[in-house]
Amino acid sequence: MMSVTPIPALSDNYIWLLRQDTSQSVCVVDPGEAAPVIEFLERESLSLDSILITHHHHDHTGGLAELIKRYSPHVIGPANSSIEGIDEAVGDGDEIRIMGRLFDVMATPGHTLDHISYFTAGIPALLFCGDTLFCAGCGRLFEGTPEQMFTALKQFAELPEDTLVFAAHEYTQANLTFARAADPENEDVKHALEECEKARALDRPTLPSTIGRELKINPYLRVNTDSVRQAAGTQGANDNDLATFTTLREWKNRF
Ligand code: ZN
Ligand code: FE
Repeated sequence: MMSVTPIPALSDNYIWLLRQDTSQSVCVVDPGEAAPVIEFLERESLSLDSILITHHHHDHTGGLAELIKRYSPHVIGPANSSIEGIDEAVGDGDEIRIMGRLFDVMATPGHTLDHISYFTAGIPALLFCGDTLFCAGCGRLFEGTPEQMFTALKQFAELPEDTLVFAAHEYTQANLTFARAADPENEDVKHALEECEKARALDRPTLPSTIGRELKINPYLRVNTDSVRQAAGTQGANDNDLATFTTLREWKNRF
């Protein structure tokens, strides 16, 4: 059984720590900082086996150099990227093995062009999607096109509904506040926002989510519903799913 623990970092990042059963050797995803990872490993007497990287942004890679120096982990990250310290450069369709478990690499460009995500089937299935899919939201388009991001999100929507979604940021509250405007008739969004506010007041993570939950509350996965399409229509084009998605993403930037 693989357990996944959040290590909060920077202002709103989570560095996810993967541990197989009671193994002392673990993996972290997107270490934007080294200090909180080192602190966690020391406290729990763990060693660092490997690191997964989703994309080149500093808040996902800033801790790499120090962790490499200290633990010499096996570092897996995107090919065609400027990231320094990667041992195994991977791309769409590649399979990797992390602590005995097989992960599929999915190219998920949009937020950045080098962005990849990691999925492992099983009970439960796990998805590490960096800054592509967030709880009730999706990443900003810094490098890619709306079409690329929309394609990535549609791939995620096809994954098993009980897949646990480990996004890299605690953006849920802002995303759900936007989702109330973008999907105004959705009662699930309303309830999710209430739950989220309670969790955040207690400083609890709102992640992981699940694919099933995202299909219910994430407006970017619901562009084919009347509620979202009509709301998008008040802000811009909504004549097809991609147009609705594009309008939503631009609307969120100025929301
Ligand atoms: Zn990013
Ligand atoms: Fe980020």
